[in-house]
Amino acid sequence: MSNPLLIAEGLPHFSEIRPEHVKPAVAGLLAEGRALVETLLASNTAYTWDNLVEPLDEMDDRISRAWSPVSHMNAVLNSEALRNVYNECLPLLSEYGTELGQHEGLYQAYRQIAEGDEYRRLDTAQKKVIDNALRDFRLSGIELDATKRARFKEIIQELSRLASKYSDNVLDATNAWHKQITGEQQLAGLPGSALALAQQTAQQRSLDGWVFTLEFPSYFPVMTYADDRELRKELYTAYVTRASELGPTAGLYDNGATMEKIMAMRHEAARLLGYDNYAERSLATKMAESTDQVIDFLEDLATRSKPAAQQELEDMRDFAREQGHDDLQAWDIPYYSEKLRQQKYAISQEELKPWFPEPRVVEGLFAIVSHLYGLQIEAVDGIDTWHKDVAFYRIRDASGTVRGEFYLDLYARPHKRGGAWMDECISRRGTAGGVQTPVAYLTCNFSPPIGDEPALFTHDEVITLFHEFGHGLHHMLTQIDYAGVSGISGVAWDAVELPSQFMENWCWERDALDLISGHYRSGDKIPPELYERMHRARNFQSAMQMLRQLEFALFDFRLHRDYDPKKGARIRQTLEQVRKEVAVVQPPDFNRFENSFTHIFGGGYAAGYYSYKWAEVLSADAFSAFEESGIFNRETGEKFLRSILEQGGSREPMELFVEFRGREPTIDALLRHSGLAA
Ligand SMILES: [Zn+2]
Repeated sequence: MSNPLLIAEGLPHFSEIRPEHVKPAVAGLLAEGRALVETLLASNTAYTWDNLVEPLDEMDDRISRAWSPVSHMNAVLNSEALRNVYNECLPLLSEYGTELGQHEGLYQAYRQIAEGDEYRRLDTAQKKVIDNALRDFRLSGIELDATKRARFKEIIQELSRLASKYSDNVLDATNAWHKQITGEQQLAGLPGSALALAQQTAQQRSLDGWVFTLEFPSYFPVMTYADDRELRKELYTAYVTRASELGPTAGLYDNGATMEKIMAMRHEAARLLGYDNYAERSLATKMAESTDQVIDFLEDLATRSKPAAQQELEDMRDFAREQGHDDLQAWDIPYYSEKLRQQKYAISQEELKPWFPEPRVVEGLFAIVSHLYGLQIEAVDGIDTWHKDVAFYRIRDASGTVRGEFYLDLYARPHKRGGAWMDECISRRGTAGGVQTPVAYLTCNFSPPIGDEPALFTHDEVITLFHEFGHGLHHMLTQIDYAGVSGISGVAWDAVELPSQFMENWCWERDALDLISGHYRSGDKIPPELYERMHRARNFQSAMQMLRQLEFALFDFRLHRDYDPKKGARIRQTLEQVRKEVAVVQPPDFNRFENSFTHIFGGGYAAGYYSYKWAEVLSADAFSAFEESGIFNRETGEKFLRSILEQGGSREPMELFVEFRGREPTIDALLRHSGLAA
């Protein structure tokens, strides 16, 4: 019986993958990988790129070809059986990674390459691969004595298990709750699209009336539009207590103890490596140079934003007071924000939806990329995917060369992890048979089509799509042929959001909007006066939003910097402290935001959430080059393509930025775009 996960070329055969394939494939490949390392080390004494790095790279590629579809399906088509094998394999993979990272013979072989003549023969990207490898050996504990090394390995494995447990708890808590409504009077204020979705959800569950869930497209409209304050409070409470000791699923999926363990183990791992704390360890692979630099950067932005944010909050309080509401609570804020936005600018996310039907948005996005970089994107039919809603596309450059391919999975559905992300399916690398085409997964959780109408997106959803597509282009357009530094691989985490946030800017430009929008019935362009209102509303409450991001970033960074083994993680305490200093809105005591903050506890953003703002300085400044030369300026586009998108992690991000912009980044463009310029 053949195992679809072991096919070493072409796209994954999603429809054939079964949970029982996973463990044998992973275990077999890891055994092969271990044997290969020993053979390579034993059969050479003078190590070179070709006799060591290349064959190991190929082995990594085979492992990732098996694991990538599994990990992806676990996120977008979660089931009990798949989740179990996924969680069984995580420690195996993590053990393999640490074992190679702590392999003395392998380390010495890489050092021999780095210190000998071979290194001088390598090109810049190859040199970077070797430099990164030596850095990563050190970060895997290679320089520790045997006891500490063993402990370090244990910690890394446990951390990988805990992160997965954390995310599973959030997903389970999200799925475990819903609200059924049978009386229409409770639904006042909700737009038609939200009602239709709730009705569809009820039908799918064979229930009467309307069903609201904690998935974002269902939750968000209630918070924004429902006139029924009790309903908002009920959903808010369920949402912000997910995976905690409070709320409707209190204690069932509680992440409290898991977070404590994660923090303790990260700190211990960082200390073993000789860092003062995990925040320092985090910066070892980032563009930012010191923990002080990060904190200063965030605090400076907070200081600049706070007066404007306080004013925004005052405006909202005044507005609510005029409507007879004196005590503005957390579950009132999105509601009154939206009402105030409508009063000031007569515009709402809902009003814009008919202008952004899915086919128009996707085609327009492709047209923009074509203008900027001379690329052509075509749909490919008949590709084996994991769900009927998934589409597949191929990107060609001006010469007709295939540069990349991607799966596009746009809609929210049960058992699909929330949020939006780009992930690597296959990475670009040179092989004996030619260059391997990079393939990406682009995953969103947008409102699905209702009935026979096309899906209609909010402007925020369009921005999210552009964001993830920017990551996708970074992964797919790379011209680097070594997987370790091709695409987003090896790119410092705090620079990785540059190409994604950069793309968002086009969603605000008239000429670009004409390409991505058109009324789904009439095909008409967005009328000038509507565009005018959109623009005026762009920075509505932008200081409050800025502070919210800074609150998350400071919480994350201080939590990791200030961990004290004697006092524990002090998670709530840290969050409350940060809120006291930064936030203008204090959430209620029962808010357990930290229990579902998967970015830092379940994902890779630990002591790295600041990266969004950090990279926004780069992306805003990069876009300002287009503001100066024209947003479809082909020459500027070409320059961005060559200097940033194609280079992957082959050089330092600052060097690439300077090559593109002709100077180091400044914060001016970000302040100007956020309406905070002095
Ligand atoms: Zn991103």
